[in-house]
Amino acid sequence: MSGTTRSAELFAEARELIPGGVNSPVRAFNSVGGTPRFIREARGSRMTDVDGNTYIDLVCSWGPMIHGHAHPEIVDAVRDAATRGLSFGTPTEGEVDLAREIIARTSVEEVRLVNSGTEATMSAVRLARGFTGRSKVIKFSGCYHGHVDALLADAGSGLATFALPDSPGVTGATAHDTIVLPYNDIEAVRVAFANHGGEIACVITEAAAGNMGTVPPLPGFNEELRTLCSENGALLVMDEVMTGFRAGDRGWWGIEGVAGDLTTFGKVMSGGLPAAAFGGRADVMAALAPAGPVYQAGTLSGNPVAVAAGLASLRLADHACYYTLQTNADRLEALIGNALHGAGVAHTIQRAGTMLSVFFTEEQVTDYAGAKAAETFRYAPFFNTLLDRGIYAPPSAFETWFVSTALTDDDFQHIADALPVAAEAAAAATAPEDGR
Ligand SMILES: *Cc1c(COP(=O)(O)O)cnc(C)c1O
Repeated sequence: MSGTTRSAELFAEARELIPGGVNSPVRAFNSVGGTPRFIREARGSRMTDVDGNTYIDLVCSWGPMIHGHAHPEIVDAVRDAATRGLSFGTPTEGEVDLAREIIARTSVEEVRLVNSGTEATMSAVRLARGFTGRSKVIKFSGCYHGHVDALLADAGSGLATFALPDSPGVTGATAHDTIVLPYNDIEAVRVAFANHGGEIACVITEAAAGNMGTVPPLPGFNEELRTLCSENGALLVMDEVMTGFRAGDRGWWGIEGVAGDLTTFGKVMSGGLPAAAFGGRADVMAALAPAGPVYQAGTLSGNPVAVAAGLASLRLADHACYYTLQTNADRLEALIGNALHGAGVAHTIQRAGTMLSVFFTEEQVTDYAGAKAAETFRYAPFFNTLLDRGIYAPPSAFETWFVSTALTDDDFQHIADALPVAAEAAAAATAPEDGR
């Protein structure tokens, strides 16, 4: 390490200008302590900060960078698009190609491009309400669907580490229409439908949860959600913003085969630029303006540069790519497991396709209560020891780890050398007064 002076200076300046010094809360390192690293550039598996430290990246911009950073073909596609103009506010050919690519890989029949995952889920919920003429939404505790008012209750990661159960500024009327249930508890969903059946517009769920750490659906959970929604005239909204084109080549749908009436995408589909999408059944999507009455729009939606990045990234995401992602996730899982086992730290590593995370508990974690019951106080020393040794893990115990295809044998050797030291630091951690 060559120190963190410049990052610390920039963070101090940023805090004068930007609330908390960051443009998205988890970047502030609040739950792990220390100085957030200001990254100057990144290539392949590695990021370099403004002090010249290099990190093996196991966050990958929270998922999108499956091919690693600055992949030459994606950069060329972006440069090509940019030289032809940055934005037109008109339809473009690339949008048609990207829509075709998304539809070819997923259950959706039509798709609308937007600018962020938040916009995708917000629009999907509005469409579900408009289509059904109903107002209530069921969401699950620990599932994050972006910072949509109606979906912020008990929303995992970013909020979990800030100890905000939900956010001030969300009105009672909005919260009143949201029913929050424990993840993986199908009985609770059955009861909610029994009590409110005719009022429920949709159930929204992460196809496999990744925002309370990685918590895959129990066998049959998504399928039973599908059945209950169909029986009760509600729509199922599968949020694949994280899992889509990340958990596997066709997202979680490709692994489990349970289709939502609507599905949301983001992260990987944008190649790292701001783009996201929602899509679904043609009859539901037909209710969207200008084809139908449910309004939705965006000045920069389908931006040609973002579309070029997404398309180039998806076209590179072939079977070989997912094979490598899976292999790299397997290798990482084994190394973390060996190190923690060696240090005698109780842990469970959970997977959803190529996504993974580690919980400091021996119990399988199936919901948010389980994730919070783990010994999360062990995470900060674990994280900081890795960071000091040039390994950038997610800066929160409630986040998923993301691998890229760019990881090399040399990177894995580096990770294998650092993990036992980090595991010892985790073992030495002592519980704070409140037990966490
Ligand atoms: C990241 C994420 C979102 C929000 O996407 P943004 O682009 O950050 O607005 C929504 N849903 C899930 C499952 C996510 O992981």
